[in-house]
Amino acid sequence: MATRDMSELKKLLDQNRAWSRSIEEAQPGFFASLSKQQVPEYLWIGCADSRVPANEIIGLPPGGVFVHRNIANVVVHTDLNCLSVLQYSVDVLKVKHILVVGHYGCGGVLAALNGTRVGLADNWLQHVRDVIVRFRKKLDAEPDLAKRGDLLCEFNAISQAAHVCETTIIQDAWERGQPVQVHAWVYGLKDGLIHETGVSIGGVAELDMLRRNGLFGDGA
Ligand code: ZN
Repeated sequence: MATRDMSELKKLLDQNRAWSRSIEEAQPGFFASLSKQQVPEYLWIGCADSRVPANEIIGLPPGGVFVHRNIANVVVHTDLNCLSVLQYSVDVLKVKHILVVGHYGCGGVLAALNGTRVGLADNWLQHVRDVIVRFRKKLDAEPDLAKRGDLLCEFNAISQAAHVCETTIIQDAWERGQPVQVHAWVYGLKDGLIHETGVSIGGVAELDMLRRNGLFGDGA
C-alpha cells in the first residue's frame, strides 16, 4: 500500500498550533472563555471563493462573525441551510447586522453572465440568471464587458440582500421591533477593500421604498 504524503497537512496542523499559541499569548484564556458562548453581532453571507475569507477581511477574531457561504452568495427561500443559519443568527444570537457580501470577479456571477457551463453549479447559478433578467436594461446599457460583470456582482449582492429581507425570519424580527439591518457589500479582490452599495435596510418601509425606486431591478 502506498504511503500517503501527509506533509502538506502536517504544515496546516503546525500552523494551527502556532496560531493557537500566538492568540493565547496575546490574550491568555481566550479560547476557554470563547468556548462557553458566542455573541457575534454580525452575520456574513458571502461567496465560497477562497479569496474572500469573512473574518480576515473585516478584522474580526473567532467569535466575531457568524458565517454562511455558498457559490455566488445566493439567498434562496427554499434553501434550508441558509435559512437555518439566518434563523439561528437572528432569533438566537440576535445579530444586529447582516452583511450580504459579493465580490468583483466572482466566477459564479461571471459564468451566469457569460453562459459558461461549469457543472452542477449551473443549476444553482440559475438564481443569478434571475438577477440578470431583472436588471437586463441596466446591464445592457454598460458596453464594457468587465464593468458589466462588476455591475452584476453589485446587483447580485443587492438582490440577495433583498431576499434576506423578504424571508419570514427578517419580516417577523422587524414586526416584533427587533433591530436588525441588512446590508449589501461587494469586496474587491484586487485591492482588498469593501465597496458599499448604499443598500442598508432596517425595516419594511425602507425595503418598500427601495423596491419602488427600482433598486431591486425592473421586474422586482
Ligand atoms: Zn464568488
